[in-house]
Amino acid sequence: MLFNCIAYQGELFYWCRDHRAHHKHSDTAGDPHNASRGFYFSHIGWLLQSRAPECKQALQEVPVQDLLDDPVVTFQLRYYPYLVFVFRILIPLYTGYWISGSWRIGLFFNVCEMWCHSLHHTFLVNSAAHLPWCGYRPYNDEILPTEASVVIVAALGEGHHNFHHVFPQDYATSELGWNRTFNPSKAFIDLGAWLGWVTERTRVEKKQIQRPRIKSNGQPKKLLDITTRMINFLFCSNNPFFSVNILSTFKNFNLFDGYSINIFFFINIL
Ligand SMILES: [Zn+2]
Ligand SMILES: [Zn+2]
Repeated sequence: MLFNCIAYQGELFYWCRDHRAHHKHSDTAGDPHNASRGFYFSHIGWLLQSRAPECKQALQEVPVQDLLDDPVVTFQLRYYPYLVFVFRILIPLYTGYWISGSWRIGLFFNVCEMWCHSLHHTFLVNSAAHLPWCGYRPYNDEILPTEASVVIVAALGEGHHNFHHVFPQDYATSELGWNRTFNPSKAFIDLGAWLGWVTERTRVEKKQIQRPRIKSNGQPKKLLDITTRMINFLFCSNNPFFSVNILSTFKNFNLFDGYSINIFFFINIL
């Protein structure tokens, strides 16, 4: 819940409700960020334009009672502006000042730039990861979501989107483990489980995964494109450079603003 406040992407309640409608009505009029309306709409336009009547209807029908029964979700819903003020503005602002000695740098980088940066990385999951030409669709090539390498990096593992839409119940959002694909989001959840904060992680069993080798147009399918394979070579734990990358990332990691990690992953790649 606190990380959600730092991210400032809207209350958990609305975030989960919109995401449920997205999975139920993917890329149709009921989807809040319907990717069949184009890149701009699915990236940021959906937040700036009024919602389609089908979408409003879908949002009313999506089940949310479990969210309303959750005391953490309702606590955040009630005190959201105050929580965002503390976790998205005050703490990053002071952290920037503490590191650089300048309130202006704190305001520009730690408050504004980090927020903007992390928002666009997340938006890529709704836009680029729903563009079929951005990557492969090994699990179902009749839907738009794609295993998009650019989003796998930008959103820290969340770009295995063809798998995620075919198996939304899988917390890892990928068939592959840490040693085969770049997925810090899974690593973070696993760390939470190790600390006892996370329970009931759901994973799809190998035998349930249908990965047709042939596309609907008769062409052979590949699981990962060349860019993703290069990223995996650089970052996965079976690579000797992995520990160096992780160490250099965490050396620069700002405890109060987790989104800085994205920048250092990019620097490592460059
Ligand atoms: Zn999606
Ligand atoms: Zn999802």
